[in-house]
Amino acid sequence: MVRLSAQKNMKQKKISLKYLVGFLLITIMNTPSQYANQASNYQDVLARLHAARSHSIISSPLYLILQQPEKQITLSLPVQLGDQVTVFKAYRVTHFTMNGLFPAKGGIRWDMSVNLDEVKALSLLMLLKCVLWNLPFSGGKGGIVCNPKELTDQAKELLMRAYTRALASNIGSDLDIPAPDIGTGEKEMLWMMDEYRSISGRLDYAVVTGKPIDRGGSYGRKAATGRGTAIFTLLGLDKLGIDRSSAAFAIQGFGNVAIHTAEYLDQQGCKITHLSDRSGTYYNPNGIPIPEAIQYKSKHKTLKGFQGAQQVKQDIIVASVDVLILAAGENAINTKNVHRVAARLIVEGANNPITVKAQSVLTDRKIMVLADILVNGGGVYVSFLEWLQNKQRRQWSLEEVNEKLDEQIYLLFNDVYELAQQKNITIRLAAYIIVLDKLQKRYEGNK
Ligand code: NAD
Repeated sequence: MVRLSAQKNMKQKKISLKYLVGFLLITIMNTPSQYANQASNYQDVLARLHAARSHSIISSPLYLILQQPEKQITLSLPVQLGDQVTVFKAYRVTHFTMNGLFPAKGGIRWDMSVNLDEVKALSLLMLLKCVLWNLPFSGGKGGIVCNPKELTDQAKELLMRAYTRALASNIGSDLDIPAPDIGTGEKEMLWMMDEYRSISGRLDYAVVTGKPIDRGGSYGRKAATGRGTAIFTLLGLDKLGIDRSSAAFAIQGFGNVAIHTAEYLDQQGCKITHLSDRSGTYYNPNGIPIPEAIQYKSKHKTLKGFQGAQQVKQDIIVASVDVLILAAGENAINTKNVHRVAARLIVEGANNPITVKAQSVLTDRKIMVLADILVNGGGVYVSFLEWLQNKQRRQWSLEEVNEKLDEQIYLLFNDVYELAQQKNITIRLAAYIIVLDKLQKRYEGNK
């Protein structure tokens, strides 16, 4: 009996140890590694809402509603990879759909740093962005804790299909419409659309955006965020009276947003002296040959080894440039590096790349920051055009799409810039005030 109970005890200890290890693993996987000591991204967005509140017509009930997501789903997705089952942590969060009147819209991020706080922040930012850009959508965002670089295409497909099955009753072209974000692209959207088709029994192209052009995608979608980021950058430069042809540009990140930003700026004759990706910072005082850098990145999946620039130890954030474009991830400028930022214009192609505390230092230093919800909304704007084209069974040309996008950019920039000038406030605060006013009108009009 004693031996039996000792064996049982040992077994229980082994089980609890196993659970403890499992728990620790999940906890570690859920900790945003590089930024573990940073403030919460969600709290940062709420702090920005708070700063805008007293300048806007927003009512107390609506302000209260905005404090929490409407829906937050946490999933554990078991996926059979070879002879092993791997369980992936995944999320989908939506904000303020007004009982489904405004379908949620937002990307799906695949990265090891994905966590619920980040997804909540990104979902709320999507709401603010959609409202600023006058789109009939609300906020949505999803993510899976994984390293896509370590997954085969087959594994990625299994994972995306598992995610789609788990979320199937929560997504739809009039309910919640996903799109690509860090680590995902056209292929992943196609798998999602296809899995959704098997479940629902009908092909609905509008269930996701960011699809390949020959499968319901829109011309101009892939480049839209970068194109918008570049045009906003040039508008900002004009306002600061900086000559674009003699300015030096640095771009952090060299993925979808950064590549298309760099390409557009390069075509406009701008000199990009610094680029970076996860492998490091790359510098060429005479200007990096952008077409070659893009070609190299597409072939090697990294800038490491690229001959058109020299790899340097310096953090790109503190590079001696006139313009710094952030197109990688969150919290890139924080209290640790903000005092060493040299640029006169900072452009947020990425979401939430500057912490609230760092922003206040930049404001004191009179460095102009073009805020994410303005700058990178070109992506969701063209996603909206893709959704419209799918709903109407038509396809516009690249010229038509770009014309619509560019028109929106100029209109929005003027609105936000004028308010910022009038009130002597930051571009971000002006954008947030406009959003809160528009949200109040949406709320009043549809209560
Ligand atoms: P992506 O995965 O295509 O590219 C991300 C790039 O950032 C990669 O080149 C990666 O190497 C680099 N990177 C990561 N960490 C870095 C670091 N610490 N230093 C330097 N480089 C680093 O992602 P993306 O779609 O280009 O998205 C970038 C940002 O833009 C994200 O914040 C995303 O939410 C935002 N955004 C994307 C879109 C879109 O349409 N893709 C739309 C709006 C906003």
